[in-house]
Amino acid sequence: MAIFSHPSFDEHEQVMFVHDKASGLKAIIAVHDTTMGPAVGGCRMWPYDNDEEALTDVLRLSRGMTYKNALAGLEFGGGKSVIIGDPSSEKSEALFRAFGRAVHSLGGRYYSAEDVGINTSDIMIAHQETPYMAGLEGKSGDPSPYTALGTYLGIKAAVKHQLNKDSLAGIRVAVQGLGHVGYSLCEHLHRAGAKLVVCDLSAEQLDRATTELDAEIVGLDAIYCQDVDVYAPCALGATLNDHTLPQLKATIVAGCANNQLAEPRHGEILRDKGILYAPDYVINAGGIINVSFERDYNADSAEAKVRKIYDTLLTIFNEADRSGKPTGVVADEMARKIISAQR
Ligand code: NAD
Repeated sequence: MAIFSHPSFDEHEQVMFVHDKASGLKAIIAVHDTTMGPAVGGCRMWPYDNDEEALTDVLRLSRGMTYKNALAGLEFGGGKSVIIGDPSSEKSEALFRAFGRAVHSLGGRYYSAEDVGINTSDIMIAHQETPYMAGLEGKSGDPSPYTALGTYLGIKAAVKHQLNKDSLAGIRVAVQGLGHVGYSLCEHLHRAGAKLVVCDLSAEQLDRATTELDAEIVGLDAIYCQDVDVYAPCALGATLNDHTLPQLKATIVAGCANNQLAEPRHGEILRDKGILYAPDYVINAGGIINVSFERDYNADSAEAKVRKIYDTLLTIFNEADRSGKPTGVVADEMARKIISAQR
């Protein structure tokens, strides 16, 4: 398996492969760039089909964290980790302790937190082995509600820019994934008067959404072609691809999932189709912004900073209109400028 010539390798500073025989831990930790500060980014636990898939994920996610943290104005570099395994059946105290020791061995170059498949109690176990864990219980805690708030505000910014509306009343949103972030996002949208069309693997979450949020349920593959204003990807990445883009009726794509574009060229296709894309790492920065207040945690200060996502996105949308560049390219350029200035 190639590393330095891997298509997703982007001059990462360090990529560490971790194996702990006793607990069965197999993990990869990627430190992408520490120019802005220690690398910070969550840990994902997922039953990857093979090591290559896990490597691609961690390389792409860690790069995204560098850009996300820089654009959110945080003194953090970018990093991420993945644990190869099924979170529903392969978690154990020994596994998360071994993961904590691996993070500790990096001496503070990388701080981990939760991501898909990981919750705060897993992080608390790893924290017993290392101080380099964030999103701790009793401190900033679960980042998901803040990610959801930022995503909600990002949808509002996109609706303002694309449809010239200040209110979400009557706006139809297709939400793919009703997990920690997706469900909380739906609650914000419902309160704001939006109409929800949703899908998820979990029948329980779908039942909740119908009862509590008056959501319409559709099949997993039917979510793309819904007659809606906004498509909000809130499950896994790469859902904007050659297969799905021709199906989209929404004129806005704005959701919390990481790495939504299968390839950068899909950002160009969205632009050419007149679909406004809220760059994933900008709209979903609420959680990491909340984590950045970990030391002297203050919920009001964290929320005030999360609310800035609205203005950051409007700036990106306006610059994309002015320059004719895809919104993702504009965001990347803004992030690179911040990092270069720091260097
Ligand atoms: P989660 O694991 O709690 O939820 C994911 C949900 O998606 C689950 O309910 C799952 O059943 C559903 N799902 C999986 N495959 C699906 C499919 N094909 N179609 C529809 N639903 C499907 O994860 P989360 O914490 O809510 O994160 C969601 C996304 O947001 C991820 O891409 C994550 O990386 C990103 N993100 C999360 C945070 C955070 O604070 N949790 C921060 C930034 C980005």
